[in-house]
This record gives sequence, C-alpha cells and structure tokens, in this order.
Amino acid sequence: MKPKSADILILNGTILTMDITDTILKDGGLAIVQDRIAAIGPAAEFSGWRAARVIDAGGGIIMPGLINTHTHAAMTCFRGLADDLQLMSWLNDHIFPAEAKLDAQKVYSGTLLACAEMIMSGTTCFCDMYLFEDAVAHAADDAGMRAVVGEVLYDFDSPNYGPIAQGFEYTRKLIDTWQKHPRVNIAVEPHSAYLCAPELLQEASDLAQDFKLPLVIHLAESKSEVSQIKARFDRTPVEHLTELGVLAPNVVACHCVELAENDIALLKRYDVKVAHNAESNMKLASGVAPIPRLLREGICVGLGTDGCASNNNLDLFLEMDTVAKLHKAKTLDPTVMDAQTVLKMATLKGAQVLGLESTVGSLEPGKKADLIIVDTARPHLTPMYNPVSHMVYAARGSDVTTVIIDGTIVLKDGQLRTMNLDSVINDVNKIAQEIMAK
Ligand SMILES: [Zn+2]
Repeated sequence: MKPKSADILILNGTILTMDITDTILKDGGLAIVQDRIAAIGPAAEFSGWRAARVIDAGGGIIMPGLINTHTHAAMTCFRGLADDLQLMSWLNDHIFPAEAKLDAQKVYSGTLLACAEMIMSGTTCFCDMYLFEDAVAHAADDAGMRAVVGEVLYDFDSPNYGPIAQGFEYTRKLIDTWQKHPRVNIAVEPHSAYLCAPELLQEASDLAQDFKLPLVIHLAESKSEVSQIKARFDRTPVEHLTELGVLAPNVVACHCVELAENDIALLKRYDVKVAHNAESNMKLASGVAPIPRLLREGICVGLGTDGCASNNNLDLFLEMDTVAKLHKAKTLDPTVMDAQTVLKMATLKGAQVLGLESTVGSLEPGKKADLIIVDTARPHLTPMYNPVSHMVYAARGSDVTTVIIDGTIVLKDGQLRTMNLDSVINDVNKIAQEIMAK
C-alpha cells in the first residue's frame, strides 16, 4: 500500500472525537492536511503515513477545541475592576464609565489578551458582542482564532458608530469586509429587548436573514428584564421577540435564565439556540437558567463565559465544572448534566449554536482541524478511569499544551506562537492605568 502523507500527524493520545456516537479512540492517530482533518483512527493505521510534522500527544487527550458561544472579549480590560455589586450600580457606576474611555486600539489590545487566555485554556472559537468589532475581528485574525463577531446595536448613541442608523451601516461594512475570511464570521447583534426598540430588533432580524447570519441577543437574563418588558409591552421578552417575528433558528439567545412555560415552548418551536453562561449568572446573582429542562425539550444549548468583568475568567474548563455541578445543586438531582452532556455543550453543541457544526465542534475527516491536546500526566488528573469525567470535573485550562486552529499550530508546549504575550499583557496594564487615572 502506498504511504499517505499529511502536514501534521498527531499520535500517542486518547482521542475524544465528540462525534454523533461519541467515539473514543484509546490509542488514536489523527492526520491534518492543510486546514482540515484528513484521517482519524487507531494509531496503527498511520504506520505507513509520512508527515511533515509529527506531534507526540504524550499519552494525553486529543479533543475538539472548546467553543465559547457568548463573550465580550475586550472586557478583559475590566477584569476585577468592580465585583460584588448590584447589577445597576456595577453597570452605571463602573462598567459604562470605563467603557466610555474605550477606542478601537484599546478594544484590539483587550481582545488580543482575551484570545491569549482563551487559546491557552483550550478555546479555539468564540462568539463576541462588543463595540469596535472590526478591531475584534482583526485581533481574532492575528491571534489565529476562529470567531463570530458582531457590533452591539442599541437605541442610544454608541461610542463607536454614533446613532443607530450608522450601527447598521457599520454592521454591513463588517459583513462586506469579512465574509470571505476562513476563520472570522459576522453576526448581527442587537443588545437586548430592553435596550432595543421593536423597529431596531426587526431591522436587525431582517439583516441577519438576508445574509443568513446568526442573530445574537441577550434574552431573559434577569427578573428585572422580564418586568421591564412586561411593563412596556405586556408580554415576556421571549413573547415580545415572537410577536416581532424575530425568533428563528439563527437566533442565539444568551442567558435565558427567567423563562415561563410558554417561553420554553416558543424557544423550542422556533428552534432558537441558547448560550448558557452559568458563572456570569451566578456572579451577577441573575439566577440559574433551566438548562436541564431545555435539554429535555431538545433545545440546542452551548456554553459561554460572558465578559471577563462578570466571571472573571474565560476558561471554559472551569465553566464546564461549574455547569455540571450548579444544576445538580439547583435540582437536587445528581444525575442531571452528566459529564458527557456538558462536554458536548462545550464542543459540538456550541458549534451548532453558532451555525458552524458542519465545520467544527467534533473531530471527523473533512472537518476543519480545530483541536487541543490536554496533558494528563498531572497529579490532579491521576489516575484516569474516564477521560470525559476528567475533562469536565478535574482538568483546568492550564493543562492544555497544544492548540491547532484551522490546521495551524497556535500553541505548542504551552507557548503562544501567534503573539508576544509579554507585550499583550503590557498593553492591557497600560490601559488599566488610564482607566484608574480617570
Ligand atoms: Zn453578555
């Protein structure tokens, strides 16, 4: 048999494919040609292969990169700036004044730091909502990450684009600039039902439908959001979006903490995708989203960290651990949110939330090579009876040693290859000094 050749061949690891049948290959091999997975199987099948580069996984875990379905990456600039406050005081007295000082350069630096943190903790793709998103797209591109980015749209003037008409203009320009990029995707992102008038929500929905893009929105995040919308429109936020014709399979609804029975039925009927942000909901005391119930209804749910000011990290390994435990405590049922379900939400389901499931989210021939290697030769990962259990309950982001995105090695032996980490840290420390100085 003629030897086959690959650009990268990965051997000596346990492969968690996260494919539809949850295949696990104990001593597996995986070949990458250009940006895609060319073959995957028992290591013995690769004995005749030639490769430009062979990576020894050191007996660790090889799995799909994690997918962060909701964040505000540049909020790394505000990490630890204000904690333990009521939501309105946190926003009005601390976050909004700090955000008023942002510009495209600062957002670029903050996002680059977020990308460093995400890559170094095994995240290969993130969905972002913020200001100056063209700078976010550039930072993600420079970091070598996959991203879905969209400019936040709301009724009041934005420090970036000014009045809302220009917000739509800015979004159209983003679509125009990035639509052919292999890793950067654009979304339309109205902030929420409480900060966006009905006309804004409908125009955003039309734009997303026209270009077949995700529509990302905060939805039913807190009791106060629900009471505000009820007072103004006499219906829940989910019913409000339904009435406006916004709900559809391309909608990524972030949070979904406060849901009535009818809301759940509507999310299911319109095949809305949900981004679950457990740690942010805990820190801001918003509550616990009824995720086990949504999963029983067959609603697609992915995981998100939300912004760094309400978490305060972007490590999806820590998020998985929290998600698996939080719902057990809430429902007093240790069988809900098992490790396999949680790991799936952080990978293949996350991809489905963002409309990227045919490209990423599992390790299968033909899919893009977005994967990570986790070093398991560590005290807290010894022994290993069940690799899925370890990835959810015992591993940390810092156990990730190698990250490949779109076939390119972006982290090797724990070292970032797409940026100078020291200078990225320096830049954000300078921004923090400016913020402190007022
Ligand atoms: Zn958010």
